[in-house]
Amino acid sequence: MNTTTVIAIHGGAGTIVRASLSPEDEARYHTALRDILLAGQRVLADGASALDAVTEAVRLLEDCPLFNAGHGAVLTADGTHELDASIMDGRTLDAGAVCCVKRVRNPVLAARCVLERSDHVLFAGDGAEAFAAAHGLELVDPAYFRTDARHRQWQLAREQQRAMLDHDGATLAASAPKDAGSNVRSEAPLPHEPIDPNRKFGTVGAVALDAHGHLAAATSTGGITNKRIGRVGDSPLIGAGCYADDATCAVSSTGSGEMFIRMVAAYDVAAQMAYRGVSLEEAAADVVMNRLPRIDGRGGLIAVDAKGNVTLPFNTEGMYRGFARAGAEPVTAIYR
Ligand code: ASP
Repeated sequence: MNTTTVIAIHGGAGTIVRASLSPEDEARYHTALRDILLAGQRVLADGASALDAVTEAVRLLEDCPLFNAGHGAVLTADGTHELDASIMDGRTLDAGAVCCVKRVRNPVLAARCVLERSDHVLFAGDGAEAFAAAHGLELVDPAYFRTDARHRQWQLAREQQRAMLDHDGATLAASAPKDAGSNVRSEAPLPHEPIDPNRKFGTVGAVALDAHGHLAAATSTGGITNKRIGRVGDSPLIGAGCYADDATCAVSSTGSGEMFIRMVAAYDVAAQMAYRGVSLEEAAADVVMNRLPRIDGRGGLIAVDAKGNVTLPFNTEGMYRGFARAGAEPVTAIYR
């Protein structure tokens, strides 16, 4: 079999603040998305698996401070980081996930390790970190995940005593000075974010179809700003934040995690294709535009099927997203 490969990625969904947007700021997001799509495209062009392509794309998204996963992840109510990730292989239905990890540099690599080297699917907290360390994955000082921008965002959320999902605060000012006495990692400030960071669901994810006709999906997140310690969203839950089955599709979600869990959102796309016989696009649109809004679920998802169809629906004003087919220029977008 020699399928035309395709990879799609997302970097979170949310409310757009057009007033805060300069062309340069917007360009930074497009460039980051494009570079990561090109990297994923190269993995697939080399004949590697969809599983390898989504692992690499999400690893790069985790390392990019523009997105809420890995370095640049949002902070909990205690000012710490608790990261979640998952991955699924549509060929075998093997899956791996970690949640509430504080020191694993790339949670998606830990999830992949769980998939490949354990009989389990989900490891949490200290046990997940011990498992990752035992398999040679890099652990970092938690300060590695912090950025000035996320710290200011967290302070804003604390002042308003809200978690970020229904926060109405203003867009981060990229030029705001670093707080005196802060031990936040020093680096160039983030640009104004095209999507209001206070109303953004910043999970990252990837889905891919490889040259052998196999599908895979991966998702990674810092969760939601000012979340309670120990809170786990949909991202590390197979079926809610991530799902892949060669028989139907591969899906990665982003949005209000509690609602995506209650709607079993990612699996529902696959289930609708299998049981109702509808197309990928119709199934995904039903989940995002009809079912999630019934319980105020906000966000979106990216999905690909075994024929190479791609759909990227969202019910918020924007979603950082893109896809790249073999031999074609990557397509990236932010707004509706
Ligand atoms: N779904 C993620 C969570 O609830 C948040 C996000 O997508 O940004 O943890």
